[in-house]
Amino acid sequence: MRKKNLTRRLSRLRTQLRRKKLDAMLVISQANVRYLSGFTGDGSRLLITQTDALFLTDFRYVEQAEAECPGCKVVDTRREMNKTTGREAWKLGVRRLGFSPEAVSLAGADALLETLRERRVEPVRAPGLATGLRAVKEPGEVAAIRACVEAAEECLEHVRPYLEPRVRELDVVAEMEYFVRCLGFDGMSFRPIVAFGPNSSRCHHAPGRQRLKAGDPVLIDWGVRGDGYVSDLTRTFFHTTIPPRFERIYRVVLEAQRRGIQRIRPGATAAEVDGAARRCIERAGFGRRFGHGLGHGIGLQVHEGPSLAANSNAVLKRGMVLTVEPGIYIPGFGGVRIEDDVLVASRGARVLSSVPKRLSEVVIGG
Ligand code: ZN
Ligand code: ZN
Repeated sequence: MRKKNLTRRLSRLRTQLRRKKLDAMLVISQANVRYLSGFTGDGSRLLITQTDALFLTDFRYVEQAEAECPGCKVVDTRREMNKTTGREAWKLGVRRLGFSPEAVSLAGADALLETLRERRVEPVRAPGLATGLRAVKEPGEVAAIRACVEAAEECLEHVRPYLEPRVRELDVVAEMEYFVRCLGFDGMSFRPIVAFGPNSSRCHHAPGRQRLKAGDPVLIDWGVRGDGYVSDLTRTFFHTTIPPRFERIYRVVLEAQRRGIQRIRPGATAAEVDGAARRCIERAGFGRRFGHGLGHGIGLQVHEGPSLAANSNAVLKRGMVLTVEPGIYIPGFGGVRIEDDVLVASRGARVLSSVPKRLSEVVIGG
């Protein structure tokens, strides 16, 4: 990680701290710790004031942290993370300490608040303060995501010949995972969803022993993780032929995605982009069969801000990277989802993924 980038990220965080009248921020989520320090491990926290950056970790990670985070002072917590947090905050004279409640468990929060109380440090809930910094990507981050998109595309290309009758969903998953590891990437960004036939109506189907049959839809939702960043794509194929009902559904989903992508530009609201795609599905009579948001940000995590949903008040900015993934799911019958990764560029959406998705291109085998 380039030191210049980290310095810029820290200074953006410090601006937020001043705005919120906080003396310091306790960074707990590992994605945020990585973003602000360059650290690639886990089990660590950052304590950031206007002048100091403390890296709190234990014996397992001290050496790695010193190598990866030259901008931070590494403190060995001696397996007393909460006590060390309280003590170090107190030593730095912190009165108001921001933290993100979603980053701690209920039990973890109790222990943390207790130790801060003992040190007379006031915990201040600052949800999304550190995470929000990650929404707009730097060019280097976009490049990392692009590399993950390309690797995912290669992975799909590799696995396509396996999609023949009698193959099991889990065979396809295993082949994808192995291939991506061999490419030299960290792995898949999540366990791929491979769903055959009626299983495709379950948005988050867990791949199992289901075998592929001619005429089946084949829904694959997959992504690759590399350099900490991820991609997240979905394609729905049909083996041999597309049954007419699926053909109609496929056309609607593809058109909904096109309309959503068309709306993406700096200044557009997340709700308006979601609405453009959703109306298309509603008009076709499938409104109730599209029960999730249109998309989400990707970066160091598979799901991060902003969320493209009707109830989101996010406004898109240049440099955000989002998925656009409408779907129609009919229980007992099957589903179609099409997902691409999109960069918000100054003139509108730039689609980073290029896996074919026209109707004529998704019929496989036979
Ligand atoms: Zn996905
Ligand atoms: Zn997604």
